[in-house]
Amino acid sequence: MTIAAKVLSAIERSSWIRKMFEEGARLSKLHGAENVFDFTIGNPSVEPPQAFCDQLRELANHPLPGMHRYMNNAGYEETRAAVAAVLSDKSPVPVKAAQVVMTCGAGGALNVVLKTILNPGEEVIILAPYFVEYKFYIDNHGGVSKEAWTNRDTFQLDLQAIEAAIGPQTRALIVNNPNNPTGVIYPAADLKSLGELLERKEKELGRTIYVISDEPYARIAYDGQQVPGIFGCVKNSIIVTSHSKDLALPGERIGYLAANPAMDQVELFMEGAVFCNRVLGFVNAPALMQRLVTNIQRESVDIGEYQRKRDLLYDHLTALGFSMVKPGGAFYLFPKSPLADDVEFVTQAQKHNILLVPGVGFGAPGFFRIAYCIDQGIIERSLPAWEKLAKDVGL
Ligand code: PLP
Repeated sequence: MTIAAKVLSAIERSSWIRKMFEEGARLSKLHGAENVFDFTIGNPSVEPPQAFCDQLRELANHPLPGMHRYMNNAGYEETRAAVAAVLSDKSPVPVKAAQVVMTCGAGGALNVVLKTILNPGEEVIILAPYFVEYKFYIDNHGGVSKEAWTNRDTFQLDLQAIEAAIGPQTRALIVNNPNNPTGVIYPAADLKSLGELLERKEKELGRTIYVISDEPYARIAYDGQQVPGIFGCVKNSIIVTSHSKDLALPGERIGYLAANPAMDQVELFMEGAVFCNRVLGFVNAPALMQRLVTNIQRESVDIGEYQRKRDLLYDHLTALGFSMVKPGGAFYLFPKSPLADDVEFVTQAQKHNILLVPGVGFGAPGFFRIAYCIDQGIIERSLPAWEKLAKDVGL
């Protein structure tokens, strides 16, 4: 065998999105791309805000000396200070630049945090349904993922299930707010209860248990809702996030991690995180992107556009008889599969040129995911196909 057995097996286990991508290409050839309704990928359909383009033009017209050189592994001081100022809005203790490391996206930040905190064999709790990359990231750093379900009717936190999953090897819990794939937002009261539970468990077990709060969708919240700040709710918490969704820059790999200033031994954690950013080979987050996002930390894409797409699909699908939690944020719907076998349902959908990801790809069989961050016209053209699909599966 030419590649590691573990990687080969991971490729086989993680092939849902790839399979769907290949199916999309095949169907597009057969029926024309405009007649294929691809709801599989969380790739923003919107363009970055005008303010981003203005910054890009400004920097191109007035390049700064040394702007392409290496820097401190944590990133530019002024970028980290700009991030810290925004985070301070939702933190009881002001966040400082020293508590921020610029990273290659939220994915990079997650890997840096996990490498910084995990000893071999330590456990990280993930909450089903979950973003499937978590399992691979945890494994990258010798950790073991432990699954706990959220409430199966509401997808909100189930503190009893979390408590049952905590043991002497628990090092962290990943919370994704708003959530991919369910779109739910966890309210502050529940996050505070989580913080209390963890403090009790930390005392009982004599170890620090971190909450890693994965927040790339934090600005994509609907109906005027605000995603609560984790720092006021959980003492040993770390935010990992990016501008992949709020500024629609996923290809540019720009994000950051930030530690709660009130956390145990915060300076040591930051020293570890800066070192891990370096030795994971990221070295630092892209220099150009750090410069460009510094002055637009309060900007975001047009959230109204996503909300209109959510409403269009949610209203249409619930009227057809599909059952789902109405998402408060992100750009996904996660309905119950009308067939007991979600893979079979997704296969039925393909017959109508609708491409979806089965819940099993998120550790949640019996559901399916719709990513509606696509062109409004495609969503509109897909509606008759959804009607036929609903009839086919007996709704
Ligand atoms: N976390 C969640 C829940 C995501 O959905 C994604 C991307 O889709 C990421 C992290 C990684 O995002 P990034 O592009 O910032 O690495």
